[in-house]
Amino acid sequence: MALYTTEGIVLKTQNIGEADRICTIYSPCKGKARAVARGARRPRSRFVSSTQMFAYGDFQIFRGKSLDSISQVQLKEAFPRLHNDLTKLAYASYVAELIGEMIEEGDGDKMLFDMLLTYMRVLSETPDPQLITVAFEIKFATVLGYRPRLESCSECGREDLSREVFFSPKAGGLICSECSPGNLGISRVSRGAIELLKALLMMEFAKIERIKANPGTRREIERLIRAHLGFRLNRRLRSLDFLEVITKTP
Ligand SMILES: [Zn+2]
Repeated sequence: MALYTTEGIVLKTQNIGEADRICTIYSPCKGKARAVARGARRPRSRFVSSTQMFAYGDFQIFRGKSLDSISQVQLKEAFPRLHNDLTKLAYASYVAELIGEMIEEGDGDKMLFDMLLTYMRVLSETPDPQLITVAFEIKFATVLGYRPRLESCSECGREDLSREVFFSPKAGGLICSECSPGNLGISRVSRGAIELLKALLMMEFAKIERIKANPGTRREIERLIRAHLGFRLNRRLRSLDFLEVITKTP
C-alpha cells in the first residue's frame, strides 16, 4: 500500500532542509509514524498550520523508501490555545513527548488516541491544566498496563494501610510501613494524595476542574506520577525542564 489516510495528531516536529518539516504523528491505527511535509515552512504552504504541533486532522501519507511523506492534510483542529498560553503549551508538549517516548511505531490504540484528543480539548479550555495533566498521566499509565497500585501494598498485598504509607516506583504503587525498610527510591504519601490520585483515575477529564486540591497535595501527586512513569522511561524528558521552569512557584 503506497498511500494511506489516517486521522492523527502531530506529537513532534523537526525542521529539515530549507523548508521541510518532519512530523511525528500519532494515529489510532498506526501508532506513531514519521513523515515529511515538503515545503511546510514556506509562508504560503498549504501545510503551514496543518503540520504544527498538536494539529489534529486526516493525514494522507505516501510510503517512501526511507521516509514517508505527507501528501495532504484535512485539518480538523489546530488547538491555538495550546500555542498561545505558555503554561498550557508546556503541559501539552510534555504529554506529546511522553506519548512519543512510550509508544512504539505501529502500536496504534483507539482508546489512547481518543484519550489524548479529549485531554487536548479539555486542556485548551480548563483553568486547571495541572490536575488535568496528572489525570492524563495516571490514565495513560493505566492504558499501558502500569496502573499504580493504590488499594493495597504492592509488595505484601496488605489491605490495611492505616499506618504510614509509601510510594515505590519500582514496586509500581503503594507499600506499607513494614515493607518500606530497605526499599530504595520510595517516598511517604499522604492520605489526601492517595484519594486524589484515585479520583483522577476514575473521573472524566471534563469534570476534573471541579476538584479542589491544595498546592501541597498537587505537588505530591505530580511528583509521584512522574516518578512512576519515569521508572519506565529510559531518560528524562526534555519537555520536563521547560514545564518545571514555567510552573515553578516562587
Ligand atoms: Zn507490605
